[in-house]
Amino acid sequence: MNTNNSIENSMNLAEDSRQQEWKHPSFASELFQGRFRWDLIHPFPEQNYMDKMLGDEYLEVLKNCLVKHIDPEKVDREQQLPPEALEALKAVGAFRMKIPRKYGGLGLSNTNYARAISLVASYCSSTAVWLSAHQSIGVPQPLKLYGTEEQKRKFFPKLVNGALSGFALTEPGAGSDPAHMQTRADLSNDGRYYLLNGTKQWCTNGPDADLIIVMALTQPKLVHGKERKQISAFLLNMDSPGVLIQHRCQFMGIRGISNGILRFENVRIPAENLLGQEGQGLKIALDTLNSGRLVIPACSAAVGKYCMHVCRNWANEREQWGAKIGQHQSVAQMLTDISCETYAMDSMAQLTTSMADQERFDIRLEAAMAKYYGSERAWKVVDQAVQIRGGRGYETATSLEARGETPIPLERILRDIRINRIIEGSSEIMKLFIAREALDPHLKRIFPLLKPGKPGNKLLAALGLLAHYTWWYPRLWLPAWSLPKVKFLNRHNRKHLQFLSRTTRRMARKLFHSLIHHRTRLQDEQLLLGHYVDTAALLFTMSACLSRTEQHIKAHGSQPNLQQLTDTYCQKARTEIKEHLRNLRSENRKNMEQISSHLLEGHYAWMENGILKYNDSRTVAESGELSQKQNKKEMV
Ligand SMILES: Cc1cc2nc3c(=O)[nH]c(=O)nc-3n(C[C@H](O)[C@H](O)[C@H](O)COP(=O)(O)OP(=O)(O)OC[C@H]3O[C@@H](n4cnc5c(N)ncnc54)[C@H](O)[C@@H]3O)c2cc1C
Repeated sequence: MNTNNSIENSMNLAEDSRQQEWKHPSFASELFQGRFRWDLIHPFPEQNYMDKMLGDEYLEVLKNCLVKHIDPEKVDREQQLPPEALEALKAVGAFRMKIPRKYGGLGLSNTNYARAISLVASYCSSTAVWLSAHQSIGVPQPLKLYGTEEQKRKFFPKLVNGALSGFALTEPGAGSDPAHMQTRADLSNDGRYYLLNGTKQWCTNGPDADLIIVMALTQPKLVHGKERKQISAFLLNMDSPGVLIQHRCQFMGIRGISNGILRFENVRIPAENLLGQEGQGLKIALDTLNSGRLVIPACSAAVGKYCMHVCRNWANEREQWGAKIGQHQSVAQMLTDISCETYAMDSMAQLTTSMADQERFDIRLEAAMAKYYGSERAWKVVDQAVQIRGGRGYETATSLEARGETPIPLERILRDIRINRIIEGSSEIMKLFIAREALDPHLKRIFPLLKPGKPGNKLLAALGLLAHYTWWYPRLWLPAWSLPKVKFLNRHNRKHLQFLSRTTRRMARKLFHSLIHHRTRLQDEQLLLGHYVDTAALLFTMSACLSRTEQHIKAHGSQPNLQQLTDTYCQKARTEIKEHLRNLRSENRKNMEQISSHLLEGHYAWMENGILKYNDSRTVAESGELSQKQNKKEMV
């Protein structure tokens, strides 16, 4: 298959699996349309009293269970979560938090579930991954979304009784791009079962799971005379004959997770275990990830809070050059960044999970932005915390403890958190996803003109397009008096709100200009679109912080400390936004493209001199073995 065909296939599959319609309002989608819908996010949603009480009680139970049964350093060192810890977690219902009460689960709200997982993540990330792989993306979530009543009655009780689950989409040749999937599920002639063959890579919980959701190719369908790949989703019992654990994987961080390569050889899956319809598999996977990835921003915020706690104590205690290190400006700057970013991550995560609970918003963009922003910023925050701890930040907690120091595990946290920028949609893929959704309203209007069709229909589409843009575009130039009608308590916040309203329209105008300039090729302009995505993500975080601070002031009166934090974050975000909007015109793209092609073509290979390359060590070792063998032969 040539490259163009391969790209087209991937794009077609991704398009077919996209949720096409927007049934509910989306704050983030409106931003890209130039509309700053403050009314959608303010008042900042407070968790309702009963739900909060329920969450508080459960968090207490969970906290006791963690401290009693899990030693995170041991989990990391021994690269496993002990079976008794798993049993203890199961006993307190930690593996059925997301299963509806109707089927015997705890039925926690998204907010309480995020609170619970982030509490666990602040203590032991590996344990958080066990829980989250099982119920954020494993069987409970897709079963809840797409299962028939019969399937729910069959599988939920198994899960409630302790069956562990996982999610198997990735393959050796199909990472971010599922169109390259090779695993097949062929329907038997009598239609009673599917025969599953193939390999799934990096399935978290997979090696220990009882039940997984697995995505596989089924019979292709014909679209305009061309074959289109169909991916379907299946509920698979892991004790089925032909399921093999080929390899247990080990990683830089989250070392206590169970993760492996699964091989399927003629595995029979009963036809009634098909989830949804044939061909709906990728959509099921993407929908599952849409809600599943809400946990990552919450965990990112939790890690930020942990860093604040560590740095507050350390920077107050440690003295160098005649002063507490927190008083040196460079350290103070890092402390400020950590505080501001944590407030931003936390506000964004709370807002998004609460929106999910309210079930009156389409949160696919907000969830993706929160995942992207949270995983990127948390990585920086932990890095800064390591820096503030100096050598102790780099030393393992076990080693610190052995020599009588407080075993603060920042070294482990840095290793653990790195994965969040890769899993459940890498940062690059999140940006593409957000950009595609951002352009959707424009593309929906433009595509009918580009597709082959009757001239009459095209004329109608063109008139519709003209009518829309003559009304929509001039409004983007209106001055800031179209500010949301809201009584602001703080004059700084009012200024930030004006900036948000003004910049939202500016961004939408520029996006429209880019669309006119690049037309449908805009979808390939990843760097350009990346600046729009970063701008929108920052507009969203700023809005979340402002809404939360205002709400807090309203409830508790003037809050100078909080206001200062909000103000500083907003100033920082505004500077970044201006930079992104300036970079839209950047001329560096050509250089970048040329340098990366030179690198790929080996023109800079001369710079790689003077190092031992990964193949060299093997070659040297092999040649050593060879000469040893030869020596032996000669001696014989
Ligand atoms: C610890 C761990 C746990 C995991 N758990 C699971 C699991 O439970 N279930 C499961 O199915 N999978 C799981 N995965 C797989 C994970 O989701 C993938 O690693 C991820 O989707 C990326 O795929 P890849 O690693 O093959 O990278 P690739 O897709 O090969 O991408 C490599 C790089 O290229 C970038 N890239 C790729 N395509 C584009 C593009 N079009 N534009 C710009 N940049 C691009 C990526 O962002 C990345 O930086 C896990 C992985 C790990 C490491």
